[in-house]
Amino acid sequence: METHYSQLSKHLYVHHGHVNTGILRDGNSALLIDPSGTSFQTTLTELGITTVEQILYTHHHRDSTAVFPIPENVRVGVPEAEAQWFTEVDTFWNDPKYRWHLYNCHPHNLMLANSINVTDTYAEGAQITWGPASIGVLETPGHTDGSVTYLIDVDEQRFAFSGDLIYDEGKIWDLYSLQKGQQTTDYHGFLGARDELKESLEKVRYSSPTVLVPTHGVVIKNPDTAIDKLIEQLDFCYDKYVSISALRHYFPQLFSEFEGNADHMPIREGKPPPEFLRHFGTTWLIISETGEAFVMDCGSPNVIKQIQQLQTDNEISEVTQFWVTHYHDDHVNAIPEFQETFPCETIADTVVTEVIENPKAFRLPCISPAVTCVDRATHDGDSWQWNEFTMTAYHFPGQTYYHGGLLVEGRGVRMFFSGDSFTMAGIDDYCSGNRNLLGKDVGYEKCLRLIQELKPTHIFNCHVDPAFDFTDKEIGFMLDTLAEREKFYTDLFPWDHANYGMDDQWVRCYPYEQEVALGKIATLKVEITNHSLESHTAIAQPILPTSWGIEIDPTETTIPPKADGHIPFSIPIPKVGSIFGSEISERIVIPVEITYNNIPLGQFREAIFVLTGG
Ligand SMILES: [Zn+2]
Ligand SMILES: [Zn+2]
Repeated sequence: METHYSQLSKHLYVHHGHVNTGILRDGNSALLIDPSGTSFQTTLTELGITTVEQILYTHHHRDSTAVFPIPENVRVGVPEAEAQWFTEVDTFWNDPKYRWHLYNCHPHNLMLANSINVTDTYAEGAQITWGPASIGVLETPGHTDGSVTYLIDVDEQRFAFSGDLIYDEGKIWDLYSLQKGQQTTDYHGFLGARDELKESLEKVRYSSPTVLVPTHGVVIKNPDTAIDKLIEQLDFCYDKYVSISALRHYFPQLFSEFEGNADHMPIREGKPPPEFLRHFGTTWLIISETGEAFVMDCGSPNVIKQIQQLQTDNEISEVTQFWVTHYHDDHVNAIPEFQETFPCETIADTVVTEVIENPKAFRLPCISPAVTCVDRATHDGDSWQWNEFTMTAYHFPGQTYYHGGLLVEGRGVRMFFSGDSFTMAGIDDYCSGNRNLLGKDVGYEKCLRLIQELKPTHIFNCHVDPAFDFTDKEIGFMLDTLAEREKFYTDLFPWDHANYGMDDQWVRCYPYEQEVALGKIATLKVEITNHSLESHTAIAQPILPTSWGIEIDPTETTIPPKADGHIPFSIPIPKVGSIFGSEISERIVIPVEITYNNIPLGQFREAIFVLTGG
């Protein structure tokens, strides 16, 4: 682990651990900015600092706040706007609204596992005097809603500790933190916090710092150029997103500034669906010549009523097969009731099945707690006959990674049911939490190649009434744009591939949440997607509550290029006696420390244990 530091001025140092920690020193006392992790202690010792008097945090993320053992009597200051996410984190972990049906990215994930004591909260314009320095506070939202920048005037210079607003010249630490709605839910807000971020960067620039110290990143000695470059990059990346975005179909008003842009893919007209299809809610229904019905998705009880009405009207006899396109709540919420009402075979792609059969094991956007029983999980290319139609199933990582596609051939047409993956305006990748990976044979690249090969006469989206299709030229344009994005988005991050900055599930715990019995052994897998072209090592270490008195050893694995790796853990759960009297509640957050490719990432991910009686 890195344990080195650099000196910025007579009184100011920065420790470079898994984050940068500012050390403002006055004799053997110090004020710290964003201390996190234990490696930090060595630096304090080396500098001869014996007393930490005050701590300032720029924002509430666990990877930059956790584990620093805060001594008693130390003043701890945090942004006023997010003080709650330091002091009352149980609200977050125990409120189902932060666990299910996630359309909202406020507050951001990476919440502290345990609250910390806060003595001071700072809003815009607050002034702090400490030792030789005077410190001003700027509210600089963007990376999180309440992030602040601390302007430290010391030794005749001005240093801005700007949190995670910027990583380096033209770079940010991640993009998924910017998933925020402007006129829509956060779910629809890809790069939605970019304006807020840009305003905050301008505000920092206007305060004329000589040096920027990011929480994640490198010390920036040319703030002006670094900020200009980042704003330029973000604008470019957003333009490349808009140019083929399906969202232009749903919310044209959001994109009025881009209207008529010749570099963007024009939006096509749809066409009428064949007469043997019905569409209500997010459900498509195929009526066979036999009178039987094939149903896709069931998001609300209304759909069940409408299918029963078709039976009453003698339009259909019975439902014989049911296909689930993907796990989103507006497609699965009413499946348990549907399955009771229409006993039939339920079919879904293997990757979709994993989520809908055990939703607790995942924490994903729009996830529903409804459990679906799948009778048959399909693999890429599995084919079967349903009356006069030939059905072929595909893993179709479009709108989400956990998504299937279904080709239905018969009665003179080739219909492709793409779930929510396309509209006439393009691809549906407006929520970064859905894991829209960039690169060859993954994400929309894979989906578009498949459409190119299958040449459906009609493409269907669950939310769109007309059918549509794409010309070869349009598919080519979308593929070229994705290739360009892979290159330019990679430039935006410190990683060697864009997906690390875009896919907040590249490290994940499986299961995310599980019930564990006291006195038993829980199993937990830390899964890691290596998005690079070379092998990388990953080290994971689950951090158990201190009251358990158990430490799990860090464990390492090597993951081949462009592959998933996993690290399994067996975790003994203490019996009632050893838990009794401690502060832990029934729902326990287990943060996991990650080191990837020798880069320590702190408490980067978490799992949830729900304790049940022994
Ligand atoms: Zn952060
Ligand atoms: Zn969806």
